[in-house]
Amino acid sequence: MNTEKRLVYMDHAATTATRQDVAEAMVPYMTGTFGNPSSLYDLAKVSREAVEKAREQVAVAIGAEPKQIYFTSGGTESDNWAVKGIAFARKAKGNHIITTVIEHHAISHTCEWLEKQGFSVTCLPVDRFGMVDPADVENAITDETILITVMMANNEVGTIEPIAEIGAIARKHSVLFHTDAVQAVGHIPVDVGAQNIDLLSLSGHKFHGPKGTGALYIGPGVRLDPLMHGGAQERGRRAGTENVPGIVGMGLALSLAVADMAENAKRVTTLRDRLTEGMLAIPNTYLNGHPDKRLPNNVNVVFEFIEGESILLLLNRWGIAASTGSACSSKSLEPSHVLIACGLPHDVVHGSLRLTLGEETTAEDVDYVIGAVKDVVQHLRDMSPLTPPELRSQS
Ligand SMILES: *Cc1c(COP(=O)(O)O)cnc(C)c1O
Repeated sequence: MNTEKRLVYMDHAATTATRQDVAEAMVPYMTGTFGNPSSLYDLAKVSREAVEKAREQVAVAIGAEPKQIYFTSGGTESDNWAVKGIAFARKAKGNHIITTVIEHHAISHTCEWLEKQGFSVTCLPVDRFGMVDPADVENAITDETILITVMMANNEVGTIEPIAEIGAIARKHSVLFHTDAVQAVGHIPVDVGAQNIDLLSLSGHKFHGPKGTGALYIGPGVRLDPLMHGGAQERGRRAGTENVPGIVGMGLALSLAVADMAENAKRVTTLRDRLTEGMLAIPNTYLNGHPDKRLPNNVNVVFEFIEGESILLLLNRWGIAASTGSACSSKSLEPSHVLIACGLPHDVVHGSLRLTLGEETTAEDVDYVIGAVKDVVQHLRDMSPLTPPELRSQS
């Protein structure tokens, strides 16, 4: 089988490595200047200033003011806080929330929980490319609607949603608009002003920052209930001693990602297209997500007659780290809710493979993966009873 085994990481949508320079910048805030930012002595002032510098770095990256950035423990907390915080703060105004069928579980499971608390949730469909129609958003708005939450870019199929248009509709109807931008920030241009966004979630480990770090942007005049009750940190809106090293690392990682964004996106897009071409050269293979309104690093395909989980296990033997698309697929055999929402029939939805590239991915990596996937798919098709004779190896 494989002669030149190597390690190729093609799962950057799941997480990324913390950059070496970022990790090094964090160390002093764990060891030397470890002060609690809330304390009054000089040691604490160093921590406080580091947190404020990071707040500025995050703000600049999304076109916000530093005072509109609140640090959290990650994308999941930011999503929970935005949706629950708005729901409970505005429940006297109405109980209706609009979301979509393709959201990350941090949004969809939060909305399901709110339904149990008496809120009413409309889950909008997507087209076959995973795209939300802004007209559907507008038609779903009622007098009771208090929040619209639509992700900026989908983590499975990479589709980039029409956020500015949806934000404009929300504004026109005086409904608050939240976007889960975890896959977008640091990868594609984001501007909370130009895109009419009231609340935005981001996560450090998706752009080469540390895990367990994130932020919520809260626009001017937006009131929401806290998720964390306790001390007066983050201007009284998010209690808990600040994760100073994590915040420092996230701020630096984001400023570095944004500085190189255009150049990186161009390079990664070229590699993505080469990889997509290689995948689609395999017979009975289809691209998921939008052909061009998609993240620069995302390739998601389905292969007929075989199962994604088997593909992953065999690719792992080639040293390739990939995913079937849905984050939970390793723990449950549920088919991807995103691919089903895109209208994929149940018999092909299990045959998906998501390959997400990073800035360290090379053309050699891409060619190696193309060779490995071809081999693995043929091997599995030869074993599958569903494979028609013309797709089997001649032996
Ligand atoms: C990874 C991810 C999250 C969760 O972020 P964590 O920081 O891992 O909690 C939320 N939404 C999307 C779209 C993601 O890709």
